[in-house]
Amino acid sequence: MNTAEHSTVNAAAARARGVDAVVAGQPAMDGAGVKLTRIIGSPELNRADPFLLFDVFESDQPGDYIAGFPPHPHRGFETVTYMLAGKMEHQDSVGNRGVIETGGVQWMTAASGIIHSEMPKQQDGLLRGVQLWVNLPARLKMSAPGYREFAANAIPAEQRAGARLRVVAGQTVTGVKGPVQGVVTDPLFLDVELEPNARFAEALPAGHRAILYVVAGAISIPGQAIADQTGVAARQLAVLGPGDELAVRAGPDSARFLLVAARPLGEPIARGGPFVMNTREEIKQAFDDYKAGRLLSASATQE
Ligand code: MN
Repeated sequence: MNTAEHSTVNAAAARARGVDAVVAGQPAMDGAGVKLTRIIGSPELNRADPFLLFDVFESDQPGDYIAGFPPHPHRGFETVTYMLAGKMEHQDSVGNRGVIETGGVQWMTAASGIIHSEMPKQQDGLLRGVQLWVNLPARLKMSAPGYREFAANAIPAEQRAGARLRVVAGQTVTGVKGPVQGVVTDPLFLDVELEPNARFAEALPAGHRAILYVVAGAISIPGQAIADQTGVAARQLAVLGPGDELAVRAGPDSARFLLVAARPLGEPIARGGPFVMNTREEIKQAFDDYKAGRLLSASATQE
């Protein structure tokens, strides 16, 4: 029996999520000259609360990535880096140092302030990954920073009919838990591979914002409310509409996508470069703190 159809039939109240928008993003340059595609955080899609930014880096040309992201600050949110291919070395002011490799994740809670560097740990070959910024509520923006890193082998895989998923954060309907737990926005982060024409369904909390980035192949989402019914193609990101279930189907080729869902905050947002706070005054304070060398001690002064 097809698992997806079975679960849809049984869960009478389940409402499959449609698609609010499909976004391809635009070319951008960041760090010391890394070419990337900015999908959230661009004029096309400024944000999808609580998601503030979704960048994709993908190149086999060292000139596109080798300069990396030398030391720079963050305050007020969390950065999530998930590697699809290649290696990135990370070092930060909290004392963390490590290399994130293919299939690994780094979940960094900048909160009151972190200064870190993100540098490719390779001279050539393909470097591909995504970086997502997840907002923090006002009450936690100035809390102490935190850091988690998990290699590919620490991320559990779940096998279903026609689908294999890796659970990075949260928990699936079958109870498989990802290593990232206890995040304030209660995220679910899945890396899903589908066989050709396979169906896949997963419960999503009705109140969560959900985004879906297609890594390879193409998928269709039933009830997709967009003009182009061909679905969501590789390298496109879909912002899902309301509902409490994701139901998708792979095209004639195998497909792979990242699904991320988290609770929106509904708070005012003020952005300034690497800082995301609630007010312009707090952004000015962040720049002042950084210039004066106070960024890293700021959480202590709040207590
Ligand atoms: Mn950074």
